[in-house]
Amino acid sequence: MGDIVLIKGLGAIKSLGQNFLIDKNYIERELSHCKPQGKTVLEIGPGIGALTAGLAKEAKGFTAIEIDERFIPILTEKLRGLKNASVVYGDALEFAGGPFDLVVSNVPYCVASKLVLKIPEFGNEAVICIQKELAHRMAAKPGSRDYSRFSVMCQLLFEVELLEKVPAGAFYPKPEVESRVLRLRVKGKVDGGLSLFINAIFQHRNKKLRNAVVDSRELLGLGSKEKAVEVSGRLALCERRVITLTKEEVTQAYGEFREAIGQPAPVSYPRQ
Ligand code: SAM
Repeated sequence: MGDIVLIKGLGAIKSLGQNFLIDKNYIERELSHCKPQGKTVLEIGPGIGALTAGLAKEAKGFTAIEIDERFIPILTEKLRGLKNASVVYGDALEFAGGPFDLVVSNVPYCVASKLVLKIPEFGNEAVICIQKELAHRMAAKPGSRDYSRFSVMCQLLFEVELLEKVPAGAFYPKPEVESRVLRLRVKGKVDGGLSLFINAIFQHRNKKLRNAVVDSRELLGLGSKEKAVEVSGRLALCERRVITLTKEEVTQAYGEFREAIGQPAPVSYPRQ
């Protein structure tokens, strides 16, 4: 049965980000970027298996996790006879397996940013296909409209290589925008405290750092407004707008914040 007929028969669920890669040329090209030979591989959201068998046949070990139960028998059939391969029915955001040598995903749009930020928990290298806008947000420069908490987190976590531009017509149903295939290499982890700090100040990304800290004082555990004013005044970059801070400056501000609240920052940060 053709893939489009199969998808039409099943019905794609938009809220699960179900746009399936159906163009054989792009499937082959993405597989060639993955280089799964001899690796343990995790595929997130395999769908009806555009990449699945191609990865599993070459990999040393292969696990696919899919949230839509309807695809499990289709995937199981595609992987029949491959003793190195297994399919897990579940939510990748809750998955705790690994580590894997390689993570592969044509990332569902609905949970894309959360899944991208979770990749370091699964492994140190990933080949992902994401919508163009999200790729732009990953690489956004300080001060630009697209610069956000997600940009800073991605720039701290990953080295990003653009591998491929994929037109919307390579998917069915056809999404509204193009996609990008990227290779991510994990540079390091972002500890929970730094992640929370980034989250807190970027809630007020157009404000000065000083005011962002004061306005996020509850999230930052600062208690009174007086205490927050005092702590924020000790940050060297307190007069800068949050949206203009580079990842290095955000990390510096976090170190000073920890000093100011009497908790020196942990010694190791992600490699820059
Ligand atoms: N890899 C397939 C392809 O390229 O044709 C499907 C890609 S489609 C963009 C995203 C897939 O992720 C769908 O099969 C969807 O059901 C699945 N998915 C969505 N949310 C998920 C989650 N939280 N955990 C695991 N799979 C998820």
